[in-house]
This record gives sequence, C-alpha cells and structure tokens, in this order.
Amino acid sequence: MINCNKEQVINIIKNIASTMEKNKEYLTELDSAIGDADHGINMNRGFKAVVEKLPEVEDKCIGTILKTIGMTLVSTVGGASGPLYGTAFMYAGREVTGEKELDLTDIKNLFRAALEGLVKRGKAKPGDKTIVDTLTPVVDYFKSSLDEKTDNEILEEIVSIAKESMEATKPLLAKKGRASFLKERSKGHLDPGAVSCYLMIKEFAAVLKG
Ligand code: ADP
Ligand code: MG
Ligand code: MG
Repeated sequence: MINCNKEQVINIIKNIASTMEKNKEYLTELDSAIGDADHGINMNRGFKAVVEKLPEVEDKCIGTILKTIGMTLVSTVGGASGPLYGTAFMYAGREVTGEKELDLTDIKNLFRAALEGLVKRGKAKPGDKTIVDTLTPVVDYFKSSLDEKTDNEILEEIVSIAKESMEATKPLLAKKGRASFLKERSKGHLDPGAVSCYLMIKEFAAVLKG
C-alpha cells in the first residue's frame, strides 16, 4: 500500500523545486507563445522561496507543511499561477492536518482537495487549457477502483495520465488567464501551467516509486 512519510514529502517538494529550476527556460518559452513569458520564472521563484521556508516547518505535520507551501507560493509569485497553486496546496494541507504519514486514502483526498482549491480560485473547467486539465483526470483516476493495482502501477498511471492530458492542451482554445486574450491564436501551443502541473506529478510519483 502506498505510503508517504514526512521525509518523502520534503523530498518531493525539493525535487519539484529543482525540476522548476531545470525547466525554468522551457516553461517561460511556452508562456512566451501564449502569455507574458514568465511562467518558468514564477514557478522557480515560488519554489525557491518554498525550499528556504522548509526548515521552519520540517518538524510540523504534513498538513502544516503543505499549508505553508501554499502561503509561500501566494506571497512570492506575482502571476496567476502563485495564488492558484498556492490555494491548491493550502486546500491539500487542510485535508491532512495532523498527519505525519499519508496512506493512499490521504493521497486521494489531498489531490481532490488541491483540485477543489484550484477550481474555487480560478473557476476553470476541464478543457479550458489550464492547470485544471492536467489535474482533473488524475483526481478521476484516484476515484476509480484501484484494488487490483500495485503501488507502482498506480504511480506510473498517474504520470502517464498527467502527461497525456498535458499534451492534450495543445490544440485547445484557452478560456482562462492571459492565453484567453489570444482567442484562436492560443491553439497549437501547450499550456504552460498544464506542463508545470505534469512536472509536479512526475516528481511526486518518482519519490514514492519503489
Ligand atoms: P500569469 O499568466 O499571471 O503571467 P503564469 O504565467 O505564472 O501567470 O501562469 C500561467 C498559467 O496559469 C497558465 O498557463 C494556466 O495554466 C494557469 N491559469 C491561468 N488562469 C487560470 C485559471 N483561471 N485556472 C487555472 N489555471 C489558470
Ligand atoms: Mg505568465
Ligand atoms: Mg505574468
């Protein structure tokens, strides 16, 4: 059964921070096509601040750690993605208050709550070409029966689902955020937020895979 202890949570966050640093240029380039060329800069700035904040909360419960990450993202990222991811992390944290270790049920709840926060804040629907497009099918997968699956199957499947749904944003017309200003011209480009969300899910699975 999938289990995620606090040390693994910390590792996931640190690995997300380094993947954002590595992909800073790539995400910014994607955002230059349909936005204002700062998504990589925003994500890197936000997660750098998160990593600096970690020592203060490392001995707290996972809920507090996730809530602190959320608040840090809201306060350090100027772009739309800061409040959006920030709210997602805050909602996720609220779901696991007091926990020092997460089981599969906690993880399912945490992903569901993150999506709830994201949608509450940004009001995007699946297909609007946003972060929501990557996260929604993963949350749906967690709602399906996973009894017959091994941990590694589940982790591999969420990564491939996230990858597919991120890639599926390419032909879409953006309905939310700056990209929506471009109307038809937003078609034919990956959504930067959908890509950063995929990168996060990939790091999450990589740490937990046996
Ligand atoms: P900004 O657009 O303010 O410069 P970023 O470039 O950091 O912020 O983030 C842009 C990303 O934010 C988009 O690619 C999209 O995925 C995501 N986004 C924008 N608006 C919304 C929304 N209402 N709901 C969900 N995601 C959104
Ligand atoms: Mg931008
Ligand atoms: Mg911006």
